[in-house]
Amino acid sequence: MLIREAKLAGTPEQFAQLDAAIRTAQCVHNRCLRYWRDNAGVSKNDLQKFCAVLAKDAEQPWMGLLNSQARQAAAERTWQSIQSFYRRCKEGAKHKGYPKFKKHSRSVEYKTSGWKLSDDGMSITFTDGFKAGQLELWLDGSARQLILSSKINRVRVVRRADGYYAQFCLDVERQEAGVYSGNVIGLDLGLKYFTKDSNGAEVACPKFFRKGEKRLRRAQRRLSKRFKKGAKPQSKNYHKQRQRIGKVHLKIQRQRKSWAIEQARRVMVSNDIVVYEDLRVPNLVRSRHLAKSIHDAGWTQFTHWLDYYGKLWRKVVVAVNPAYTSQDCSGCGYRVQKSLSTRTHDCPHCGLTICRDQNAALNILKRGLEVVGAEWNNGTAGHAETGSQEQTTGEISTSAEVGQPTSVSAVAEPVRTSREAV
Ligand SMILES: [Zn+2]
Repeated sequence: MLIREAKLAGTPEQFAQLDAAIRTAQCVHNRCLRYWRDNAGVSKNDLQKFCAVLAKDAEQPWMGLLNSQARQAAAERTWQSIQSFYRRCKEGAKHKGYPKFKKHSRSVEYKTSGWKLSDDGMSITFTDGFKAGQLELWLDGSARQLILSSKINRVRVVRRADGYYAQFCLDVERQEAGVYSGNVIGLDLGLKYFTKDSNGAEVACPKFFRKGEKRLRRAQRRLSKRFKKGAKPQSKNYHKQRQRIGKVHLKIQRQRKSWAIEQARRVMVSNDIVVYEDLRVPNLVRSRHLAKSIHDAGWTQFTHWLDYYGKLWRKVVVAVNPAYTSQDCSGCGYRVQKSLSTRTHDCPHCGLTICRDQNAALNILKRGLEVVGAEWNNGTAGHAETGSQEQTTGEISTSAEVGQPTSVSAVAEPVRTSREAV
């Protein structure tokens, strides 16, 4: 699956109709969730049937205006969140993530009906009961050609601070020829920098990570000055500032996203096997240092794109449990206890002296290579034998396995819409 996005150009009345459709999809989600909570043993099928009941609801007549497949899509999303909740319960996860009612939904998803793309791909017409009509599509020529020449599985309308967008989910298997160098690499999430790799190279945190936060704080201070307690409605200036904040958020999101893509691409181009620490693994050892938590969000996005390029170029991307990676000696395996402020790894057992984070990156790489069953000797990086595909260590391999490129079927771009985690 590939996703291409276009900005929608239309009148305020049309956007108001899109808003109504978004609100209705949110309403479908909330009603489905309520139905699941109130009735025992509700299945996916029950929710689908419930959609048809909703469509004829006399108390909420607007429910019937939304395209029937869009209603189904909203119910499917609800079911997904219910299912992941069940899964996390089964796994005994600490945060179960009980499905929540939505208050500020920003998107509605159509499947194959309720909309029509014009023959030249210049506009899209929404044909369901909300009658948003024809809206112009702003996107570049090659993306337009791709949309016109592919099967469109879904169209998602997304509201952002600077306008409305249409995301086209295309039934395309994107696959490119990768360049193979024989290099392997382990990545550690540093405190002082974004990543440090097993070769000792580091990537500094871009300045906009902090700059953006500063700008945001300033804008939020300004907003709170304009807030009048008890005033209804709030002043025009207040709402202007509120919209400005939305745009600052959007800019930060986009900066971070393009940066994550750039970094992930750079790493994946020059390495065949990439191993990173999996922050989803609940870990008591890993200290939740303040500076680290700021990076975490950026790191998650970065690892999503590593996975993406791994699939695209048929390379191996492995996420490993980061427990003890900074304590253990990468030379001999001896556990050297150290506090966060100790910057170098000094092994009393084998005498290895090395930067603390590089030591961690080396351990991460070793673990990853164990997962894919590759051989690796310290100092002769790149000497990877990739025979077996045993996964005995219980770690999560998130991408293609070496020697099994055929197992890669579809590549989904990690596009997230509502409240992107950045
Ligand atoms: Zn040692």
